[in-house]
Amino acid sequence: MTRPEFARMFSLLAVQLRYTDADEAMILGYYEALEDLEPEFVKAAADRLALQAEWFPKTSEWRAAAGAIRRERIEAQRQHLRRASRPLCRVCDDTGWAPVDMVEHGRSIRRVTPCGCREQRRRELLGHAPLPALPPAIERPDREAVQG
Ligand SMILES: [Zn+2]
Repeated sequence: MTRPEFARMFSLLAVQLRYTDADEAMILGYYEALEDLEPEFVKAAADRLALQAEWFPKTSEWRAAAGAIRRERIEAQRQHLRRASRPLCRVCDDTGWAPVDMVEHGRSIRRVTPCGCREQRRRELLGHAPLPALPPAIERPDREAVQG
């Protein structure tokens, strides 16, 4: 998150909550307290605070709101993936860890490495991509029962 990026979020929220005491030093102070967070969560938190907060938030309140949004999105993604009848990622079976076979000292061993699907899951969390379409079930054992 860049400072100008954050300054825009801050200024918009200050306008929305009619907070008129903000100055450059304060924006910098807030930036330093929040810059380690994903800008997407900081922005989503500002959007929520604009609708729900009574006062301009302290840095701790803004952080807490960003953390809550992050947890909610992780949970929503988890619930969504749980509905899939089979794993979306054939490489790692949705564990996030891809097996890698290596030869070490003449012996074949299996290690794991972070799977490529992690980046896609991350993009979904940040709101850059929609949650994945779930694969259709391979078998539909209930179908005959329903029709009969
Ligand atoms: Zn994977």
